[in-house]
Order: sequence, then C-alpha cells, then structure tokens
Amino acid sequence: MKETTSLLNRLFDSGILFSTGIDGLYGRSGVFEDVIARFDALVTAFGGEDKAEVVRFPPAMNRAHFERSGYLKSFPQLAGTVHSFCGDDHGHAQLMECLAAGEDWTGQQKATDVVLTPAACYPLYPLIANRGVLKPEGALFDLQSYCFRHEPSVEPTRMQLFRMREYVRAGTPDQVVAFRADWLERGGKLIEMLELPFHVDVANDPFFGRAGRMMKNNQRDQGLKFELLVPVNSTEAPTACLSFNYHQDHFGRTWGIETADGAVAHTACVGFGLERVAIALFRHHGTDVQSWPSAVRKVLWG
Ligand code: ATP
Ligand code: ZN
Repeated sequence: MKETTSLLNRLFDSGILFSTGIDGLYGRSGVFEDVIARFDALVTAFGGEDKAEVVRFPPAMNRAHFERSGYLKSFPQLAGTVHSFCGDDHGHAQLMECLAAGEDWTGQQKATDVVLTPAACYPLYPLIANRGVLKPEGALFDLQSYCFRHEPSVEPTRMQLFRMREYVRAGTPDQVVAFRADWLERGGKLIEMLELPFHVDVANDPFFGRAGRMMKNNQRDQGLKFELLVPVNSTEAPTACLSFNYHQDHFGRTWGIETADGAVAHTACVGFGLERVAIALFRHHGTDVQSWPSAVRKVLWG
C-alpha cells in the first residue's frame, strides 16, 4: 500500500502525471505521451505485417449497442453512462438553487444515447456485423481508444480513463485460436525488448456478484483469458499490462456475426494497456527517460 502511494507521488513529483484531485483521473505530461506514442508504434511494428484494418472510435459508444453487448450483465459496477440536463427554465432554476445550496443537483439529469467505452473492442462488433458474412480468411482490426472504468484507485496503474490498443480477430475457431497463440508469443518478445520483468498467467475478468463467481471459475478453467503481468505497484500483486482474450462465440452470437461457411463467428482480442506499460517503464527504468538503458531507448526511439 505504502509503496503504491509513493509510486503515484513520484510520478506527480517528477511532473510525469498531474493530479486532478480524483483518484484514477490524471493529466499526462509530454514525456509520458511520448513514451505512449513510442510504445504504440512498437506494437504496430510487431503487428503491422498482419495488415489489420485500422479503426478509431471516440471514447464513447452507442448506448443501444452497449446494452446489447452484455456488459451490464457482467460488469455493472464498472460502467460509465453519460447523462445531461434535459429540463426547462423552471428545472434550470431548480438546478441552480441546488447547486448554490450545496445540495444534489443531479436529479434532472437524464441518460443520453451515449455511454463511455468500457473496452476498445466494444464498438467494433456491431460494425463487423453490419458488413455481413465474414470472408473465408475472417477479419482483423487494429483499435485504440480511451476507455472508462469506474474503479478509482491510488494504484497509478488502475485509472478510470486510460487507453487500450487492441488487435481483434474474427473468424473460425482455428483462425482465432491461432491469432491468440501468435500474440501470446509476440507479447512476451515485445516486453522482453523493453527489459521489463514479466510472466504470463491464466486470469479472469472481474465479473460482478454471486453469479460472477461461477463465470470467473469457468473463464479460468477453460483458459479463455491470459495476462502478461509486470510487477509495478508490488511484486506480490503484479499488474496486467497485456491481456489475451478468447470470447469463443459470445460476440458472434450477440451480434449475429457469421463465418463464410455459415457458422457463428468466434472472436479474440489482444489488449495493450498503454498507460500501464508506460508506468511500468518509469517504475523500472526511472523517471528520467534520458537515463533509461540504451537498448530500451533504441527500441523505442530508434
Ligand atoms: P485488471 O485485471 O487489472 O482489472 P484486465 O485484465 O481485466 O485488468 P482487460 O479488461 O483485459 O483488463 O483490459 C485490457 C488491458 O487494459 C489490460 O491488460 C490492462 O493493461 C489495461 N487496463 C485494464 N484496466 C485498466 C485500468 N483501470 N487502468 C489502466 N489500464 C487498464
Ligand atoms: Zn477486446
């Protein structure tokens, strides 16, 4: 715990991140953004040969798509929705009165058609489905988005708004499983080049509530999620910097995505936590990028 707070404070003190007064919501310095951009480019250097289609969404998505995705069933505690004032003059006067009195002013806020993106790949599945049946070779996408998760924390690696770079594969079970196996290998090579200590382990998502316990066990037993973990805040609880997720036919069924031979498509994604990797680099190599190991500097800055 103590170590955690001090890492965050060190990042503040050295001007790498800026406090906003909210745990998990930080300003980024130019140096931090440069490290993120260089790492992002390194990911592209590893994945570029696959010729994934680049798609970028804003950090919010269609609420109807979000509702259909099943996110609220599994992770209601993490979701962030966008609400706006939808009242008239009278309502506005009431709002201003509440605000002046220091009372709750949010009573007239109504849900808009927009929610915050919880993972970079969520807005993609309806786009894939809209295009119709997959080609025989399936599909491959390159995504990056700010994502929101309501999980305030003083661990600098657990933010409420952070960026996720992803590759997403849709196709037959064989195609999708091969994609994930490839990235498990590439991910290790990539992090090795950055001279960060790591190990890969089976993992589970933070499914909510009592029903969630069974889903966590099921996900682990079937080996559907792996994480590449780097000790950042502590060695006992290393941080997931990369995730390798096999969704089986979950999104294919939800969105009606079909393979060329008429079966329900399977999907998988590999996710890179851009802030997490950057913070791991600052934690292990120091807050001054000029004094990082020369091999690491060469990999990132050429
Ligand atoms: P955790 O188990 O630590 O909550 P996760 O493995 O469930 O994370 P994913 O849902 O797989 O996370 O998200 C993909 C990637 O996004 C993760 O590998 C991680 O690097 C990054 N990530 C997830 N949550 C956060 C967060 N709160 N702050 C910063 N990065 C995050
Ligand atoms: Zn994903």
